[in-house]
Amino acid sequence: MAGEPILIVEDNPTNLKLAKLLLTVEGYEVRTAVDAEEAVKVLATFHPRLILMDLQLPGKNGLDLTRELKADPHFKDILIVALTAYAMKGDEDRAKAAGCDGYMTKPVSATTFPIEIADYLQKQATLAK
Ligand code: MN
Repeated sequence: MAGEPILIVEDNPTNLKLAKLLLTVEGYEVRTAVDAEEAVKVLATFHPRLILMDLQLPGKNGLDLTRELKADPHFKDILIVALTAYAMKGDEDRAKAAGCDGYMTKPVSATTFPIEIADYLQKQATLAK
């Protein structure tokens, strides 16, 4: 749904720019962070419905940040979709074990990415009924 808040956590500038552009065009309210520390700062004032979480981040990685957020009653309702490099075998299992609700592989595709995000939001809306 248009206007829904989404946070993108991604340290790769090209991926971050593309994902932000694609979601902004769809009408989402998009915020970004380049690492876990910045993500926590954004989350102090912005409560997204979905976080697109790159797993490989400088400093604290996306799996550890996901575990922390899912253990916090204030944040555990946020849908977290892991984003990782295609070649990283085993990441899907690790993402799910850490509490991620979904998983996507890079590169971000201009055609399928917005549809996948919409699907995650729709599924969650259905489950909440
Ligand atoms: Mn990364």
